[in-house]
Amino acid sequence: MNYHSATTDAAFKELTTRKDGLSHEEARQRLEEHGANELEGKSGKSIWRLILNQFLDVMILILLAAAVVSVLVGEGSDAIVILVIVVLNAVIGFVQEYRAEKAIEALRNMSAPEAVVRREGTEKKVEATELVPGDIVLLEAGNLVPADLRLYEAASLKVEEAALTGESEAVTKTTEPIADDDPPLGDRLNMAYKGTIVKDGRGEGVVIATGMKTEMGRIAQMLDESDSETPLQKRLATFGKQLSIAVIVICALLYGVGLLRGEEPLRMLLTAISLAVAAIPEALPAVVTIALALGAKRMVKQNALIRQLPAVETLGSVTYVCSDKTGTITQNQMTVQETWQPDDVALPGRADLTKEQLLLLCMALNHDVKKDDEGNYLGDPTEIALVEYVRQQEGYEQDWEKQYPRADEVPFDSTRKRMTTIHEFGDSYLVLTKGASEAMDDVSVQEAGPILRRAEELANQGMRVISYSYKVMDSLPEDNNPDTAESDLDFVGMVAMIDPPREAVPDAIAECFDAGITPVMITGDHPATAKAIATQVGILRQESDKVITGKELGKLSPEEFEQEVESIKVYARVSPEQKLNIVTALQKRGQFVAMTGDGVNDAPALKKANIGIAMGITGTDVTKEASHMILLDDNFATILKAVREGRRIFDNIRKFIKYTLTSNTGEIWTLFLAPLLGLPLPLLPIHILWINLVTDGLPGLALAAEPVEKNTMQRPPYDPAEGIFNRSLVIHIAWVGLLMGGICLGTQVVSMRLDDPKWQTMVFTVLALSQLGHSLAIRSDKVSLFKQGLLSNKQLTLAVAFTVLLQLAVIYVPFLQNMFHTQALSWGELGACLGVSSIIFVAVEVEKWIKRRRGRAVA
Ligand code: ADP
Ligand code: MG
Repeated sequence: MNYHSATTDAAFKELTTRKDGLSHEEARQRLEEHGANELEGKSGKSIWRLILNQFLDVMILILLAAAVVSVLVGEGSDAIVILVIVVLNAVIGFVQEYRAEKAIEALRNMSAPEAVVRREGTEKKVEATELVPGDIVLLEAGNLVPADLRLYEAASLKVEEAALTGESEAVTKTTEPIADDDPPLGDRLNMAYKGTIVKDGRGEGVVIATGMKTEMGRIAQMLDESDSETPLQKRLATFGKQLSIAVIVICALLYGVGLLRGEEPLRMLLTAISLAVAAIPEALPAVVTIALALGAKRMVKQNALIRQLPAVETLGSVTYVCSDKTGTITQNQMTVQETWQPDDVALPGRADLTKEQLLLLCMALNHDVKKDDEGNYLGDPTEIALVEYVRQQEGYEQDWEKQYPRADEVPFDSTRKRMTTIHEFGDSYLVLTKGASEAMDDVSVQEAGPILRRAEELANQGMRVISYSYKVMDSLPEDNNPDTAESDLDFVGMVAMIDPPREAVPDAIAECFDAGITPVMITGDHPATAKAIATQVGILRQESDKVITGKELGKLSPEEFEQEVESIKVYARVSPEQKLNIVTALQKRGQFVAMTGDGVNDAPALKKANIGIAMGITGTDVTKEASHMILLDDNFATILKAVREGRRIFDNIRKFIKYTLTSNTGEIWTLFLAPLLGLPLPLLPIHILWINLVTDGLPGLALAAEPVEKNTMQRPPYDPAEGIFNRSLVIHIAWVGLLMGGICLGTQVVSMRLDDPKWQTMVFTVLALSQLGHSLAIRSDKVSLFKQGLLSNKQLTLAVAFTVLLQLAVIYVPFLQNMFHTQALSWGELGACLGVSSIIFVAVEVEKWIKRRRGRAVA
C-alpha cells in the first residue's frame, strides 16, 4: 500500500490497528513475525577473529617458526616450553580483548534509543528495537524518528531529513493524503522516516515499517560506524610500530654480535627473537582499550554512561564544565510557592470565574502533561509542578478540559520561551499562552513595568517564574502561524516555583575548584534566579565573576566575547544556539570544555565540546546521539565523578606503560650489553619469554587496577598537548631500565668471578625480582609505598606474591628446573638476589622522595 496517498483511516485498516494502539499481545506476536526494529550489519569482532588476532603478530609467527626449527634440529624440550608460553600469552590476550569487547558492547546496548508508544490506550517508553508495524508512536522535538510512520497528527511538527534526503532544512509535516503516486521522499509530507530528526513540534503516527524494511534500511545506509580507535590508541599504535623497528634492529645487532662471540647460531637466533617478542609491547594498545573499556564499565555504576571511548581519556583534561541549571544543578523537582495577579483580570464570556479561577483555568489547560498506567505524571517537570498544584486548588474544575477541548497549539521552544494552546470556547476560540515574563512582554498589551518588577523580586529569591496571558479569537489562526496567536494578549498572572539545588552539588563545585576546573552555569531562566542559585551552590564566588544574559551576549562581537569569556560564570536567558558560541570562545582561549545539554538545539554545542554530555532522564534522543557521555541521573556531581575516574584511568595507563617499557628496556640492556662486555648470554630464550609472560604480565595488569590516588582531584587537569609520554615518564624509563640492566650484569659478573655455576639462575631471579619491586614502587608518582600500604592495591600485592611463588617454583621444583634449565639457589644466594633486586625499589622510592621535596619547595 502507498501509505502517503492513503487516508489515515485506510492506513489504520491496512495495519489492523487503532489510535489506542495495539494490545501487548498483538505487539508481541508482531515482533516475532517482523523481527526487531534495527538495521543489520553492526556487530563487533567475532570470537574467531579475536583468537586469530593473537597469533597473527609477525614476531609471534617468527618465534613459532624458530621453535619448529629447533624441534627439527633436536632441541625439542625448549621448543615445547616456548609453544606453551606462546599459547598462554594468546589465551591471556584473548580473554582480555574479549572482556573489553563485551564491555563496549554492553555500553552500546545501554545507550540504545527509546520511543514512546501507545499500547492498550496508555503511553509508555519502550526500546526502539521493540516497535512493530501498527504501533502508535508519539513524536516530540528532539526525538529520532524510530521507525517509518504515517502521521495522523502534526502540531508544528518539523522534521530534519538530511540523513535520508540530504536536505538540511527541516520540513513541516502534515497529515493529509498526497495525491501523487510516487513523490520523492522529501515531498511525502505526511510521513516520518526512521533515523530523521524531530526539530520542533509534536506529532503522532502509525508505524508502517520497521528495521531493514524502512527507507533507511532499504538504501542500506548504515549508521556510520565511527572509527572506534581513541587518539591514545592511535598514538600508541604508531609509537608501537616505531618501537618495534628499533627493537628489531637491536635484536639483529645482538644476533650479529653473538655470532661473532661464537655463540651457537640457532640458540642465538632463538634468543634474539625471544628478546624481540618480549621487548615489543604488542599488548599496549589492547591493554589501553581494556583499561578504557573497563573504566567505562565502572563509570556506568556511578551513572556516567560513556558513548565514545576516547571520552574516558579526555575527561582528565577538562578545564571548564558548562552545565545547565535546571535539572542538573537543581533537582528538577519544582513546587509552586506563590502566585501573583494584578487586580482587574476577567474573562469575557465567563464572568462567573474569579480572577484566581481564571489563572487556574490557564494552568489546567495549557500543558502537555500525561499520566501513565501507574498514575505518574509524564512530561516537562515545570509543567508537572503546575498541574500538580492546580489540581489541588479550590476553584479548580475537573471538567474544564472536556469543556474547552484543544483545537490547536504552538509548542514551547527555548528560543521563544513561550507556549500557546488554543481551545474551543463557544463559537470562538480561547488562546492561552504561558512563558518567561519578558517573553510575554513582547506579546501582551499591558504596560509591563510592574509585572516585570514583581517577576524580578520573585526571581531574586531563586524562584522560577512563569507568566500566563490569554485572548479570545473568532477563528483559528491560519497556517498555524505563531505570530497570529501570540500577540495582543492580556496578562492573567504569574506563578513562582522553587527548584532547590541538588544535595551533592555544592561539594562537587568546591571539588571543581580544587581540581583546576571552572564551573559555569547556563540557563534559559531569569538572570536573578540564575544568580541566586549560582551563589547558593558556590559557582559565583567573587566580585569579578560575571553574570550575562543572552541578549547582552548577542551584542558582543566574537572578539569581545572571547576577551571576556573566562570571567563569565553564569549565562541566563540564553538560547541553546548561543551555547555553541560559548564553547567556541572558550576553546579559542585554549580551554578544554565539557558542556551539558538536553534539548535538540543543544546538539551542535555538544558535538563541538571536547566532552559533550547529554542528560539521561530529560535528554532528547538527538542530544544523546550527539554526546560523548550520558549522565544517567542528570546530576552535576556525576560529571565530577567521571572526571575523577577519567584521571585515574589515565594515571593507571601511564603506570602500566611505565612498568612495561622500563621492564623491556631492562631486558634489552641486559642481553645487549653482555656480549659487548665479553660475557656469555645471561639468559636463555625461555627465561626471557617467561619474564615477558609472567613478571611483566600479571603485575602490569594489576597496576591498571590501582585505586584513585588521594590527590587526584587536587591537581590541575592534564595538558592535552602533552599526551601520555611526558618528559618525566621518558626519563624514568631510561634511567631505571639502564639501572636494571646494570644490576643484572653486575650479578652475572660477580657470580661468574666467584665461579658460581648457578650464575644464570641468579641473573634470571634478579631480573624478575627487581621488576616486581619496581611495580610496587611506581604505584604512585610521588607518594611513598610505605604511606600507601600494601593493602590499598590488593590485586597488585597478590600478583606480586603469586609471581614470586611462581619464580621460586621455577627455581626449586625439579620438573620445572629441567624445563627452564635452572638450579636450586642456596639461602645465601637467594638472599643476595633479593638484596641486589631491591636496589631498583629503593632507587625509585628515592626518586619520589626528591619529587616530593621539590613539590614542597615550589609550594
Ligand atoms: P532552563 O531549562 O535553563 O531552565 P528553559 O529554556 O527550559 O531553561 O526555560 C526558559 C524559560 O522558559 C523559563 O524560565 C520559563 O520562564 C519558560 N518556560 C520553561 N518551560 C516552559 C513551558 N513548558 N511553557 C512555557 N514556558 C516555559
Ligand atoms: Mg528546561
